[in-house]
Amino acid sequence: MKLSLAKLPTVVEFLPKLSQEYEREIFIKRDDMTELVSSGNKIRKLEFLLADALRKDCKVVFTCGGIQSNHARATAHLAVKLGLKPVLFLRVPNPKTITDQAISQKCETAEEQIPNGNLLIDKLLGAELVTVSVQEYARIEEIYEEHRDRFEKNGLKVYTIPEGGSNSLGAMGYVMAAAELCTQLNLNEFDAIYCAVGSGGTYAGLLAGLRYIGYRVPVIGINVTKSSSEIFVHKILEIIDGLRKFGIDLSIKGEDVNILDDFSGPAYAVPTEADLECIKHVASIEGIVLDPVYTAKTFRGMLETSKKGQKVLFIHTGGLFGLFAQANRFAKS
Ligand SMILES: *Cc1c(COP(=O)(O)O)cnc(C)c1O
Repeated sequence: MKLSLAKLPTVVEFLPKLSQEYEREIFIKRDDMTELVSSGNKIRKLEFLLADALRKDCKVVFTCGGIQSNHARATAHLAVKLGLKPVLFLRVPNPKTITDQAISQKCETAEEQIPNGNLLIDKLLGAELVTVSVQEYARIEEIYEEHRDRFEKNGLKVYTIPEGGSNSLGAMGYVMAAAELCTQLNLNEFDAIYCAVGSGGTYAGLLAGLRYIGYRVPVIGINVTKSSSEIFVHKILEIIDGLRKFGIDLSIKGEDVNILDDFSGPAYAVPTEADLECIKHVASIEGIVLDPVYTAKTFRGMLETSKKGQKVLFIHTGGLFGLFAQANRFAKS
């Protein structure tokens, strides 16, 4: 059972100018247009996860992510729409960074900082925000337990959604997206499909869905984190294995999971100058706006690893709000 929250199907577009410039055919699946406030890839997973929360009669939703998490923002928005209370556990780099930012914004305290990007939306939605350190984030399950009691002692059952919504149930959203894609394009004509890998659920669902329907097209994941591709291969195979309980029984091997580490940049959520140039270039010639955390790194990975004459599909997974949070990186240009 799933909810119907996203505006589907999302369109597939051809990018004529970039295709000409790079001498290959570049198509883009506009999953940045799944919704407005809850835009991006996470809504497809949340259609399944929040249906499960409602079915289990939960009233509160816990989830976690970085301070500018797209997943947390989408969860908060959909929770509010469904009458659930969102509690977001957001990782802050370290206290010093906050203070530096507060000083540069001439605020007395970190609390007075001007919220922007996803965080602004989280606040407008009235989500409860719990900021956690990097160390606390590493043991998020324990932190959840410390907060769960506050709600459950009042009879409010808590539903916890993993980082990025990336478990097997969430990945079902991208199994369905694979089925949607097959009605839009002849995937046998494509040399590769590219998507970002942040927590792995999008990639896992997409690969599983395509293989289940019978397509052999390579799916290339661009790792945007500093965790190694081996860790992701393992996690993705685990997620796919868990799809068995939903009737998707596949024997996918590690060799079929293709994750590239070379485009992750200096750190998660930190783009390189080349990524920023890519954002400007793609926006100015095709009117497609990429984000600095996921899709710019992935788009660049696609341009650099695909070959002349090939036909490729890019999954635009969203992230627009996160761009505003990094407006300072565009100050000079
Ligand atoms: C979360 C996210 C991704 C990565 O998807 P995962 O399923 O977490 O690997 C890609 N792009 C954007 C914009 C995201 O918010």
